[in-house]
Amino acid sequence: MRSRPGKIVCVGRNYAAHARELGNEVPARPLLFLKPASAVVPSGQPILLPSQSRRVEHEAEIGVVIGGRCRDVAEAEALRAVAGYVPLNDVTARDLQRLDGQWTRAKGFDTFCPVGELVSADAVDWRTIVVSCTVNGEVRQHDSADHMVFGVPFLVAYISAIMTLEPGDIIATGTPEGVGPIVDGDSVRVELTGLAHVENPVYRRNAESS
Ligand code: ZN
Repeated sequence: MRSRPGKIVCVGRNYAAHARELGNEVPARPLLFLKPASAVVPSGQPILLPSQSRRVEHEAEIGVVIGGRCRDVAEAEALRAVAGYVPLNDVTARDLQRLDGQWTRAKGFDTFCPVGELVSADAVDWRTIVVSCTVNGEVRQHDSADHMVFGVPFLVAYISAIMTLEPGDIIATGTPEGVGPIVDGDSVRVELTGLAHVENPVYRRNAESS
């Protein structure tokens, strides 16, 4: 696996159908939050369900990996800063997200950010990427990047006007419709169709080892 990202900048409600399924409006500007780098796990490593939550859900996303340091980059130049794309699972404790208002706890647990191998930006046009999620082989999410409310160049430009983006940083571009629970014993797979995948078993966190 590549080295740990410096930061993971996530975009909420970036597919209209997903915003609606959770009873939310599509935001007028990107809704950003951060996920800690300590949450990252590679394919094959378990997602551990924490004792604090009764409802943990998968969120299949296209992760944009930054290749070159950038700040205040113009939308027209933004793709030059992109190294490539990774399948990413923005695992979320939905009950804690609703309870807290702020999302740091709900999305920040160890193992809550499975990340797969890099697909080079030279190899694919981001608009053609299809992201999907299967749980135990059953398709739960399946949608195309061109349904994003805010596309990749806009997001890179928008975020770079706030914080310097550095090589290895990841932008998680939001999840499409179809989020749902994962439970002990499941196997959850996020795929950039035909390009890369990240697959992880799900276990309840053992109290003794926490
Ligand atoms: Zn998400």
